[in-house]
Amino acid sequence: MTQTSTQDTTVPTIKLLIQGEWVESTATEYRHVVNPATQQVLARVPLATRAEVDAAVAAAQKAFATWRDTPIGARMRIMLKYQELIRANSKRIAAILTAEQGKTLSDAEGDIFRGLEVVEHAASIGTLQQGGFAENVAAGVDTYTLQQPLGVCVGITPFNFPAMIPLWMFPMAIVCGNTFVLKPSEQDPMSTMELVKLAIEAGVPPGVLNVVHGAKDVVDALCTHPDVKAVSFVGSTAVGTHVYNLASAHGKRVQSMMGAKNHAVVLPDAHKEQTLNALVGASFGAAGQRCMATSVAVLVGAAREWVPDLIERARGLKVGAGAEPGTDVGPVVSAAARQRILGLIEAGVREGATLALDGREVSVPGYPDGNFIGPTVFTDVTTDMSIYTQEIFGPVLVVIGVDTLDEAIALVNRNPFGNGTGVFTQSGAAARKFQNEIDVGQVGINIPIPVPVPYFSFTGSRGSKLGDLGPYGKQVVQFYTQTKTVTARWFDDSTVNDGVNTTIALR
Ligand code: NAD
Repeated sequence: MTQTSTQDTTVPTIKLLIQGEWVESTATEYRHVVNPATQQVLARVPLATRAEVDAAVAAAQKAFATWRDTPIGARMRIMLKYQELIRANSKRIAAILTAEQGKTLSDAEGDIFRGLEVVEHAASIGTLQQGGFAENVAAGVDTYTLQQPLGVCVGITPFNFPAMIPLWMFPMAIVCGNTFVLKPSEQDPMSTMELVKLAIEAGVPPGVLNVVHGAKDVVDALCTHPDVKAVSFVGSTAVGTHVYNLASAHGKRVQSMMGAKNHAVVLPDAHKEQTLNALVGASFGAAGQRCMATSVAVLVGAAREWVPDLIERARGLKVGAGAEPGTDVGPVVSAAARQRILGLIEAGVREGATLALDGREVSVPGYPDGNFIGPTVFTDVTTDMSIYTQEIFGPVLVVIGVDTLDEAIALVNRNPFGNGTGVFTQSGAAARKFQNEIDVGQVGINIPIPVPVPYFSFTGSRGSKLGDLGPYGKQVVQFYTQTKTVTARWFDDSTVNDGVNTTIALR
């Protein structure tokens, strides 16, 4: 379990990055970074002081003066170098990520790869950060737009994707000409820091990217800092709502990606093998700790008869340490997370759902202390139960049966979250109806985790998002830039003298 410690110097202390220097914090409070499979303490992370937060923002503010005018080609070339370095170091960083977060090594590589794709896309900023131009909007007058960087931007990231989510944020922000202060998850900052080191190695200048560690106090200080212009947050709904409200009230542009309850709707005409494989992979992969994990299966009509096959497949997954070959389901991130998930499983039983597959007693040879929970499936679930209303964020799938596609769509649309959903069918007409009528921001058709690639944007909606523009892709270029319109007229000696005109233009 994550613990506080002021004395323990037997493990490495994670550094801050301020003005290009790796700084030892003068913090008085620390958290342990713990291997979730073994409870081994890997490092301690400082909760940075207010002075350190101010120093990081000041460094970013100072660097902005020159970075904003650095030619776009120079910024692009740093991203080209950066993607090469990430690729070369992916396996090494994946091992660190697995040790601190718990997911399997191949999933850790996937975590890095999905972030790497954003860096690759950042290298094409030359065509993304372009303004528009309209000639002769009035006699001799042209109007054009500039997409200008904002200044100091902040990123606050969750534990579940310590590579991908930081990489959603700072590469796009800085390639647009902004400077950045990153606040990684205090639960697993080590792999994030490896990626930050590579960004510096790729040529990101001092002060353009800074890192402070911490929890609520540091986040609040960043959200209220007068020199911060924009805040990107990814994490839970409670914290994301707080960050959105606090930073907005202090005049920042904010995007907040939050919790989820993702429904997979299965029609009886779906390809059974592919669908069951997809459901099981999306529900229990990463121990269910993905914001786009399938957490509710809505089985329509005769698809309800697939429950025994679904359970058999889930039972067949191998639970173990992420670093062990063959593991399908690693531990959850902390002992506290495990207790919270077990509490919700108990609530499900208490509230009358059928615990059709019980993962609570799983044992993993060689890892007696790991935070393991095996794949768990509930049937006979109703929408008032805590296991349906709350995000479990663990390897727990709840199954609900309905009679028709209309009923399934209504059920999904009644749920307050809007991160992701999927429909499994071989009917184009049914899929098209679903995509039109479903009120969820990211829809998969026979795709269980429909996270868009970086040339699109992440488009979670409703209760899963606050703010208008999503991470990465074209939307984030809008988010990280201010559109300025310029309306211009040039005179020479042949220009007719209009005289003084006190009316607004009539044409
Ligand atoms: P979290 O909200 O606990 O933490 C996120 C960040 O906020 C961390 O950096 C943490 O230090 C900080 N924080 C924690 N408590 C705070 C407080 N009281 N005030 C200010 N800052 C605080 O989230 P988590 O547990 O790390 O991540 C899991 C959650 O993130 C899940 O709800 C998941 O659905 C969500 N998530 C959403 C997306 C998405 O794109 N919608 C993606 C990944 C994860």
